[in-house]
Amino acid sequence: MIPIVKPFVPQLVYVEPAAMEYPLGQQLIEKFKKMEIEIRETTSHNHIRNLPGENHFQKYRIAKSTLVVGIRKTLTFDTSKPSAEYAIPFATGCMGHCHYCYLQTTMGSKPYIRTYVNIDEIFASAEKYMSERAPEETRFEASCTSDIVGVDHLTHSLKKAIEFFGKSDYGRLRFVTKFAHVDHLLDADHQGRTRFRFSINNEHIIKYFEPGTSQLNERIEAAVKVAEAGYPLGFIIAPIYLHEGWKEGYKNMFEQLDEALPKSARNDLTFEMIQHRFTKPAKRVIQKNYPMTKLELDESKRKPKWGRYGIWKYVYSDEEQEDIKDTLGSYIESYFPEGKLEYFT
Ligand code: SF4
Repeated sequence: MIPIVKPFVPQLVYVEPAAMEYPLGQQLIEKFKKMEIEIRETTSHNHIRNLPGENHFQKYRIAKSTLVVGIRKTLTFDTSKPSAEYAIPFATGCMGHCHYCYLQTTMGSKPYIRTYVNIDEIFASAEKYMSERAPEETRFEASCTSDIVGVDHLTHSLKKAIEFFGKSDYGRLRFVTKFAHVDHLLDADHQGRTRFRFSINNEHIIKYFEPGTSQLNERIEAAVKVAEAGYPLGFIIAPIYLHEGWKEGYKNMFEQLDEALPKSARNDLTFEMIQHRFTKPAKRVIQKNYPMTKLELDESKRKPKWGRYGIWKYVYSDEEQEDIKDTLGSYIESYFPEGKLEYFT
Protein backbone atom coordinates (compact mmCIF):
# COMPACT_ATOMS: atom_id res chain seq x y z
CA MET A 1 0.00 0.00 0.00
CA ILE A 2 1.35 3.41 -0.92
CA PRO A 3 0.83 5.81 1.99
CA ILE A 4 -1.56 8.69 1.42
CA VAL A 5 0.30 11.97 1.49
CA LYS A 6 -1.12 14.19 4.20
CA PRO A 7 -1.20 18.00 3.89
CA PHE A 8 2.29 19.38 4.48
CA VAL A 9 3.34 20.24 8.02
CA PRO A 10 6.84 21.69 8.36
CA GLN A 11 9.23 20.04 10.81
CA LEU A 12 11.13 23.28 11.30
CA VAL A 13 10.27 26.92 10.61
CA TYR A 14 12.55 29.91 10.03
CA VAL A 15 11.27 33.47 10.08
CA GLU A 16 12.77 36.74 8.88
CA PRO A 17 12.14 39.39 11.58
CA ALA A 18 10.72 41.78 8.95
CA ALA A 19 8.07 39.19 8.03
CA MET A 20 6.52 39.76 11.47
CA GLU A 21 5.55 43.28 10.33
CA TYR A 22 2.96 41.72 8.02
CA PRO A 23 -0.35 40.22 9.21
CA LEU A 24 0.29 36.97 7.34
CA GLY A 25 3.72 36.63 8.97
CA GLN A 26 2.18 37.06 12.41
CA GLN A 27 -0.65 34.62 11.70
CA LEU A 28 1.70 31.96 10.43
CA ILE A 29 4.09 32.19 13.36
CA GLU A 30 1.14 32.12 15.79
CA LYS A 31 -0.15 29.00 14.05
CA PHE A 32 3.24 27.24 14.12
CA LYS A 33 3.70 28.08 17.81
CA LYS A 34 0.37 26.43 18.57
CA MET A 35 1.43 23.41 16.55
CA GLU A 36 4.58 23.30 18.69
CA ILE A 37 6.89 23.46 15.70
CA GLU A 38 10.40 24.72 16.35
CA ILE A 39 10.79 28.31 15.10
CA ARG A 40 14.17 29.92 14.44
CA GLU A 41 15.07 33.40 13.27
CA THR A 42 17.00 34.08 10.10
CA THR A 43 18.27 37.38 8.74
CA SER A 44 17.41 36.40 5.18
CA HIS A 45 15.42 33.67 3.49
CA ASN A 46 18.31 33.41 1.04
CA HIS A 47 20.83 32.40 3.67
CA ILE A 48 19.71 29.57 5.90
CA ARG A 49 23.05 28.35 7.13
CA ASN A 50 22.47 26.14 10.12
CA LEU A 51 20.05 23.53 8.79
CA PRO A 52 20.32 20.27 10.71
CA GLY A 53 21.55 17.03 9.13
CA GLU A 54 24.83 15.17 9.17
CA ASN A 55 25.32 14.62 5.46
CA HIS A 56 23.94 15.80 2.14
CA PHE A 57 21.22 13.14 2.08
CA GLN A 58 19.87 14.12 5.51
CA LYS A 59 20.27 17.84 4.95
CA TYR A 60 18.35 17.65 1.67
CA ARG A 61 15.46 15.80 3.28
CA ILE A 62 15.30 18.11 6.29
CA ALA A 63 15.42 21.16 4.00
CA LYS A 64 12.44 19.84 2.10
CA SER A 65 10.40 19.78 5.28
CA THR A 66 11.58 23.21 6.41
CA LEU A 67 9.47 26.31 5.81
CA VAL A 68 10.93 29.80 5.73
CA VAL A 69 8.54 32.69 6.30
CA GLY A 70 10.04 35.66 4.48
CA ILE A 71 9.59 38.72 2.35
CA ARG A 72 9.81 38.82 -1.41
CA LYS A 73 12.15 41.70 -2.16
CA THR A 74 12.35 41.33 -5.93
CA LEU A 75 9.01 42.45 -7.22
CA THR A 76 9.99 42.22 -10.86
CA PHE A 77 8.34 39.13 -12.26
CA ASP A 78 10.09 36.73 -14.60
CA THR A 79 8.56 36.25 -17.97
CA SER A 80 7.10 32.82 -17.89
CA LYS A 81 6.86 30.01 -20.44
CA PRO A 82 5.01 28.76 -22.37
CA SER A 83 1.65 29.23 -20.72
CA ALA A 84 1.64 32.76 -19.28
CA GLU A 85 3.19 36.20 -19.64
CA TYR A 86 4.57 36.42 -16.11
CA ALA A 87 5.51 34.22 -13.17
CA ILE A 88 3.96 35.52 -9.95
CA PRO A 89 6.01 34.56 -6.88
CA PHE A 90 4.19 33.53 -3.70
CA ALA A 91 6.49 30.68 -2.73
CA THR A 92 9.69 28.92 -3.73
CA GLY A 93 10.43 25.25 -3.27
CA CYS A 94 8.38 22.12 -2.73
CA MET A 95 7.90 19.35 -0.20
CA GLY A 96 7.53 16.71 -2.93
CA HIS A 97 10.33 14.34 -3.88
CA CYS A 98 9.91 13.87 -7.61
CA HIS A 99 13.17 12.44 -8.85
CA TYR A 100 13.17 14.41 -12.08
CA CYS A 101 12.12 17.76 -10.56
CA TYR A 102 13.87 20.75 -12.16
CA LEU A 103 13.80 22.66 -8.87
CA GLN A 104 16.75 20.52 -7.82
CA THR A 105 18.93 22.37 -10.30
CA THR A 106 17.30 25.79 -10.13
CA MET A 107 17.31 25.95 -6.32
CA GLY A 108 20.73 24.41 -5.90
CA SER A 109 21.84 24.55 -2.29
CA LYS A 110 18.53 26.03 -1.08
CA PRO A 111 15.94 23.28 -1.36
CA TYR A 112 13.94 24.55 1.63
CA ILE A 113 10.48 25.99 1.08
CA ARG A 114 9.95 29.72 1.24
CA THR A 115 6.64 31.52 1.55
CA TYR A 116 6.39 35.27 1.06
CA VAL A 117 4.11 37.23 3.34
CA ASN A 118 4.14 40.62 1.57
CA ILE A 119 1.37 39.52 -0.76
CA ASP A 120 -0.19 42.97 -1.11
CA GLU A 121 3.10 44.24 -2.55
CA ILE A 122 3.15 41.29 -4.93
CA PHE A 123 -0.44 42.13 -5.99
CA ALA A 124 0.55 45.79 -6.50
CA SER A 125 3.30 44.65 -8.86
CA ALA A 126 0.84 42.44 -10.75
CA GLU A 127 -1.47 45.43 -11.05
CA LYS A 128 1.33 47.40 -12.72
CA TYR A 129 2.05 44.63 -15.21
CA MET A 130 -1.63 44.36 -16.06
CA SER A 131 -2.04 48.08 -16.64
CA GLU A 132 0.96 48.09 -19.00
CA ARG A 133 -0.74 45.54 -21.26
CA ALA A 134 -4.37 46.58 -20.86
CA PRO A 135 -6.77 46.19 -22.55
CA GLU A 136 -5.00 42.98 -23.48
CA GLU A 137 -5.24 40.28 -20.85
CA THR A 138 -2.19 39.27 -18.83
CA ARG A 139 -1.74 35.71 -17.58
CA PHE A 140 0.19 35.02 -14.40
CA GLU A 141 1.61 31.59 -13.58
CA ALA A 142 1.87 30.92 -9.85
CA SER A 143 3.73 27.62 -9.92
CA CYS A 144 7.01 28.32 -11.73
CA THR A 145 9.20 27.94 -8.66
CA SER A 146 7.05 25.85 -6.34
CA ASP A 147 4.02 23.60 -6.08
CA ILE A 148 2.03 26.42 -4.57
CA VAL A 149 -1.04 24.31 -3.72
CA GLY A 150 1.12 22.03 -1.57
CA VAL A 151 1.74 24.80 0.97
CA ASP A 152 -1.38 26.91 0.52
CA HIS A 153 -3.54 25.12 3.08
CA LEU A 154 -1.23 26.83 5.62
CA THR A 155 -0.86 30.28 4.03
CA HIS A 156 -3.99 30.85 1.91
CA SER A 157 -1.91 33.20 -0.30
CA LEU A 158 -3.07 31.41 -3.41
CA LYS A 159 -6.66 31.71 -2.29
CA LYS A 160 -6.22 35.47 -1.92
CA ALA A 161 -4.58 35.61 -5.34
CA ILE A 162 -7.50 33.72 -6.90
CA GLU A 163 -9.89 36.30 -5.42
CA PHE A 164 -7.62 39.20 -6.41
CA PHE A 165 -7.63 38.09 -10.05
CA GLY A 166 -11.35 37.32 -9.79
CA LYS A 167 -11.88 41.04 -9.24
CA SER A 168 -9.40 42.19 -11.88
CA ASP A 169 -10.43 43.31 -15.37
CA TYR A 170 -7.43 42.12 -17.33
CA GLY A 171 -5.69 39.49 -15.22
CA ARG A 172 -5.81 35.73 -15.31
CA LEU A 173 -4.18 33.29 -12.95
CA ARG A 174 -2.99 29.75 -13.57
CA PHE A 175 -1.06 27.21 -11.62
CA VAL A 176 -0.44 23.49 -11.56
CA THR A 177 -0.20 20.99 -8.76
CA LYS A 178 0.47 17.37 -7.89
CA PHE A 179 -1.32 17.73 -4.56
CA ALA A 180 -4.94 16.97 -3.78
CA HIS A 181 -5.28 19.33 -0.80
CA VAL A 182 -7.62 21.77 -2.49
CA ASP A 183 -10.62 21.98 -0.15
CA HIS A 184 -9.91 25.50 1.13
CA LEU A 185 -9.81 26.78 -2.47
CA LEU A 186 -13.24 25.50 -3.43
CA ASP A 187 -15.19 28.48 -2.10
CA ALA A 188 -12.79 31.15 -3.42
CA ASP A 189 -14.56 33.75 -5.55
CA HIS A 190 -12.63 32.97 -8.73
CA GLN A 191 -15.06 34.41 -11.30
CA GLY A 192 -13.72 31.92 -13.80
CA ARG A 193 -10.45 33.87 -14.10
CA THR A 194 -8.21 31.15 -12.67
CA ARG A 195 -7.31 28.00 -14.55
CA PHE A 196 -6.72 25.23 -12.04
CA ARG A 197 -4.39 22.60 -13.52
CA PHE A 198 -3.30 19.23 -12.20
CA SER A 199 -0.09 17.59 -13.22
CA ILE A 200 -0.90 13.94 -13.83
CA ASN A 201 0.98 10.90 -14.91
CA ASN A 202 0.46 7.18 -15.20
CA GLU A 203 0.54 5.14 -12.01
CA HIS A 204 3.88 3.48 -12.74
CA ILE A 205 5.59 6.87 -12.98
CA ILE A 206 3.87 8.28 -9.88
CA LYS A 207 4.84 5.19 -7.92
CA TYR A 208 8.51 5.13 -8.90
CA PHE A 209 9.37 8.76 -9.46
CA GLU A 210 6.97 11.03 -7.56
CA PRO A 211 7.24 10.15 -3.85
CA GLY A 212 5.71 12.63 -1.45
CA THR A 213 2.93 13.73 -3.83
CA SER A 214 -0.73 12.75 -4.06
CA GLN A 215 -1.72 9.56 -5.88
CA LEU A 216 -3.40 9.67 -9.30
CA ASN A 217 -6.84 8.82 -7.93
CA GLU A 218 -6.53 11.56 -5.30
CA ARG A 219 -5.50 14.14 -7.90
CA ILE A 220 -8.44 13.10 -10.07
CA GLU A 221 -10.85 13.33 -7.11
CA ALA A 222 -9.49 16.82 -6.36
CA ALA A 223 -9.90 17.80 -10.03
CA VAL A 224 -13.54 16.75 -9.88
CA LYS A 225 -14.11 18.96 -6.82
CA VAL A 226 -12.37 21.86 -8.56
CA ALA A 227 -14.52 21.39 -11.67
CA GLU A 228 -17.65 21.26 -9.55
CA ALA A 229 -16.56 24.55 -7.95
CA GLY A 230 -16.72 26.05 -11.45
CA TYR A 231 -13.02 26.58 -12.12
CA PRO A 232 -11.75 26.22 -15.68
CA LEU A 233 -9.72 23.00 -15.47
CA GLY A 234 -6.58 21.72 -17.14
CA PHE A 235 -4.16 18.81 -17.04
CA ILE A 236 -0.45 18.82 -17.65
CA ILE A 237 0.86 15.40 -18.53
CA ALA A 238 4.44 15.75 -17.43
CA PRO A 239 6.95 14.45 -17.70
CA ILE A 240 5.88 11.97 -20.33
CA TYR A 241 8.34 9.17 -19.70
CA LEU A 242 8.82 6.04 -21.78
CA HIS A 243 8.93 2.76 -19.89
CA GLU A 244 7.80 -0.75 -20.61
CA GLY A 245 4.04 -0.62 -20.96
CA TRP A 246 3.85 3.19 -21.21
CA LYS A 247 1.06 3.16 -23.80
CA GLU A 248 -1.11 0.97 -21.63
CA GLY A 249 -0.24 3.02 -18.54
CA TYR A 250 -1.28 6.30 -20.14
CA LYS A 251 -4.42 4.73 -21.59
CA ASN A 252 -5.36 3.63 -18.12
CA MET A 253 -4.77 7.15 -16.81
CA PHE A 254 -7.10 8.64 -19.43
CA GLU A 255 -9.73 5.98 -18.69
CA GLN A 256 -9.71 6.88 -15.02
CA LEU A 257 -9.99 10.56 -15.85
CA ASP A 258 -12.82 9.91 -18.28
CA GLU A 259 -14.77 7.89 -15.72
CA ALA A 260 -14.48 10.62 -13.09
CA LEU A 261 -14.82 13.97 -14.85
CA PRO A 262 -18.29 15.48 -14.93
CA LYS A 263 -19.74 16.70 -18.24
CA SER A 264 -19.61 20.31 -17.12
CA ALA A 265 -15.79 20.17 -16.90
CA ARG A 266 -15.25 19.02 -20.47
CA ASN A 267 -16.14 22.00 -22.61
CA ASP A 268 -13.35 24.19 -21.36
CA LEU A 269 -10.64 21.67 -20.67
CA THR A 270 -6.98 22.09 -21.58
CA PHE A 271 -4.14 19.61 -21.90
CA GLU A 272 -0.42 20.32 -22.00
CA MET A 273 2.13 17.61 -22.78
CA ILE A 274 5.77 17.81 -21.76
CA GLN A 275 8.21 15.00 -22.54
CA HIS A 276 10.88 14.04 -20.05
CA ARG A 277 14.20 15.77 -20.59
CA PHE A 278 17.35 16.28 -18.61
CA THR A 279 20.63 18.17 -18.74
CA LYS A 280 24.04 16.97 -17.55
CA PRO A 281 24.03 19.19 -14.43
CA ALA A 282 20.49 17.96 -13.65
CA LYS A 283 21.61 14.35 -13.97
CA ARG A 284 24.44 14.93 -11.48
CA VAL A 285 22.17 16.52 -8.90
CA ILE A 286 19.41 13.88 -9.33
CA GLN A 287 21.94 11.10 -8.75
CA LYS A 288 23.16 12.89 -5.64
CA ASN A 289 19.70 13.54 -4.16
CA TYR A 290 18.13 10.22 -5.21
CA PRO A 291 21.02 7.77 -5.56
CA MET A 292 18.69 4.75 -5.89
CA THR A 293 16.54 6.24 -8.64
CA LYS A 294 15.52 4.06 -11.57
CA LEU A 295 15.08 7.14 -13.74
CA GLU A 296 16.71 6.49 -17.09
CA LEU A 297 19.29 9.24 -17.68
CA ASP A 298 21.45 7.83 -20.47
CA GLU A 299 22.46 10.58 -22.90
CA SER A 300 23.24 8.03 -25.62
CA LYS A 301 19.59 6.98 -25.72
CA ARG A 302 18.36 10.53 -26.23
CA LYS A 303 18.48 13.31 -28.77
CA PRO A 304 20.53 16.35 -27.76
CA LYS A 305 18.73 19.65 -28.19
CA TRP A 306 20.32 23.05 -27.68
CA GLY A 307 18.36 24.72 -24.91
CA ARG A 308 17.63 28.41 -24.67
CA TYR A 309 19.60 28.63 -21.43
CA GLY A 310 22.77 27.81 -23.32
CA ILE A 311 22.96 24.17 -22.30
CA TRP A 312 22.28 20.86 -24.03
CA LYS A 313 19.20 19.04 -22.98
CA TYR A 314 18.45 15.44 -23.78
CA VAL A 315 15.00 14.70 -25.17
CA TYR A 316 13.47 11.64 -26.85
CA SER A 317 14.35 10.81 -30.46
CA ASP A 318 12.20 12.26 -33.24
CA GLU A 319 10.49 8.89 -33.73
CA GLU A 320 9.74 8.53 -30.04
CA GLN A 321 8.38 12.06 -29.95
CA GLU A 322 6.08 11.28 -32.88
CA ASP A 323 4.94 8.14 -31.11
CA ILE A 324 4.19 10.11 -27.93
CA LYS A 325 2.25 12.77 -29.84
CA ASP A 326 0.25 10.20 -31.82
CA THR A 327 -0.48 7.95 -28.87
CA LEU A 328 -1.38 10.52 -26.21
CA GLY A 329 -2.94 12.82 -28.81
CA SER A 330 -5.26 10.01 -29.90
CA TYR A 331 -6.24 9.28 -26.28
CA ILE A 332 -7.15 12.94 -25.76
CA GLU A 333 -9.17 12.92 -28.96
CA SER A 334 -11.08 9.80 -28.12
CA TYR A 335 -11.74 10.42 -24.41
CA PHE A 336 -12.01 14.21 -24.44
CA PRO A 337 -12.97 15.32 -27.96
CA GLU A 338 -13.88 18.81 -26.67
CA GLY A 339 -10.53 19.17 -24.85
CA LYS A 340 -7.86 21.47 -26.24
CA LEU A 341 -4.25 20.33 -26.53
CA GLU A 342 -2.29 23.53 -25.94
CA TYR A 343 1.20 22.29 -26.78
CA PHE A 344 3.60 19.38 -26.77
CA THR A 345 7.18 20.14 -25.91
S1 SF4 B 1 5.49 18.27 -7.00
FE1 SF4 B 1 6.37 19.47 -8.69
S2 SF4 B 1 7.63 21.01 -7.72
FE2 SF4 B 1 7.24 19.42 -6.20
S3 SF4 B 1 8.97 17.99 -6.28
FE3 SF4 B 1 7.37 17.22 -7.65
S4 SF4 B 1 7.85 18.10 -9.67
FE4 SF4 B 1 8.99 19.28 -8.14
